[in-house]
Amino acid sequence: MEPNRDEKVIVVGAGPAGLRAAEVLTGVRLKPVLIDAGTAPGGRPGRLGRLGQARLGDRDASLRRAFAGLAEKLDYRPETVATGVADGHLEVRHGDEVARLPFDALILATGASEVLLPFAGWSRPGVVGSSRALAELSRGRAVARRPVFVGTGPMLYRVAARHAANGVTPAAVLDTGPKGGILRASHHLATDWMVFADLLGDLAALRFRRVPLRRGVRPLAVMGEDTIEALHCRDEAGEEFAVPCDAIVTGFGWRPDDRLAALAGARFAPTEADGGWRAVLEDTGGVTGAPIYLAGAARGQGAILPVAEASGTIAAFAALIDLGYPVTVGTLRFWMTRIETRRLLNKGLAQAFPLPLDIALAATDDTLVCPCREITAGRLRALAGEGVADLTQAWNATGLGGGECGALHCAAAAGAILAAAHGTTPADVGRLASPTPISSENLDSP
Ligand SMILES: Cc1cc2nc3c(=O)[nH]c(=O)nc-3n(C[C@H](O)[C@H](O)[C@H](O)COP(=O)(O)OP(=O)(O)OC[C@H]3O[C@@H](n4cnc5c(N)ncnc54)[C@H](O)[C@@H]3O)c2cc1C
Repeated sequence: MEPNRDEKVIVVGAGPAGLRAAEVLTGVRLKPVLIDAGTAPGGRPGRLGRLGQARLGDRDASLRRAFAGLAEKLDYRPETVATGVADGHLEVRHGDEVARLPFDALILATGASEVLLPFAGWSRPGVVGSSRALAELSRGRAVARRPVFVGTGPMLYRVAARHAANGVTPAAVLDTGPKGGILRASHHLATDWMVFADLLGDLAALRFRRVPLRRGVRPLAVMGEDTIEALHCRDEAGEEFAVPCDAIVTGFGWRPDDRLAALAGARFAPTEADGGWRAVLEDTGGVTGAPIYLAGAARGQGAILPVAEASGTIAAFAALIDLGYPVTVGTLRFWMTRIETRRLLNKGLAQAFPLPLDIALAATDDTLVCPCREITAGRLRALAGEGVADLTQAWNATGLGGGECGALHCAAAAGAILAAAHGTTPADVGRLASPTPISSENLDSP
């Protein structure tokens, strides 16, 4: 490789994907700028510490070692937020200082934000996302003594098991995934034995502590006047029941934070799986026609840490190829295979833990969907009746998604409700592009 060239490459996000991208870039003696909103590198696993780690293998330690070896070779800028992309420049803010950094290649490894689904009472104090609950636990401040865990996916069990192992008594783990779904998907899940073993380990640990585990559950309403007293639910057979608890931890999965890609002009298209809108990318994560690459959870490759890391590595190699560096096809293929081999795992995860968007559809008219702008499910349904055809028109009419959170949390649910009111699919009501500027207030950092 040619040494000491001076192309300007910027990586946004010092999580697993961004760190691995930076590692590749320093390997050809580039000195990338590494921007991160946090005070220390490591991204989500770094912030959650040991509690956020898999049972098997300490990849966080391996990342810390990687960063220690890189620190001198990077222009690392912590506590800096990337707020926009325009004319080949990245706009950043550090405290009150703003700057425009030119780039020849830009790697966006900005992670994902939690999916929140509206059911009666979901936005009350005491209902928290799993990531925040785990972050509080890692700081020694559990969100409650007897929380109920509701949602779906291996992470739900991980977060509940970590609470159970750290002095908290989970009232129950209520999975919205279909009954028998884990068993039916087990041949796919077992294609990644570490992920599967982790899941089985968490399930066993919860059973050992006699935590009630139920699948096929739908949360209906948070009960209690001033404090949370129970979660009212329905099971697959239509039976209603209440689980007494003092807090509710939700974990419905993650949506890529691809706002910078949108600002950079990337094209978006709806996904078949859940109707969510994703940037249209090349296999390597590249945005067609622009020197911009998405990596890790920001491109939907973040559910599993080694995949997020491989995704960052691939984005960096793709950037180097486009800059004219002699990267061999075999190198790129090697890393891409590490992601492709997990196709069956992803199939199993989708089968056992599908996103229960029907929760949003069942939200009663008075349920808040966009708490920032106080827009209810009923208001969205009424908008459809008034001829509001898509989410952009809904935003124009009500300010939907224009609040503090930047539509990170409400877009999926609002799209599903508006689409259902029109008798169409979420893909038909378009993508909600929030006008809220990116800031440290609306990054999903626990
Ligand atoms: C509760 C929980 C437990 C988990 N446990 C496991 C596990 O046991 N095993 C496993 O394999 N995986 C686990 N994961 C998944 C793992 O966290 C992801 O694979 C990984 O974090 C994805 O890495 P990433 O680099 O893509 O994103 P992240 O780790 O989220 O890093 C993104 C970084 O980008 C920064 N950023 C974002 N936007 C901006 C901006 N505009 N300006 C500046 N900086 C920005 C953020 O501050 C952050 O540091 C867990 C996830 C969660 C939520």
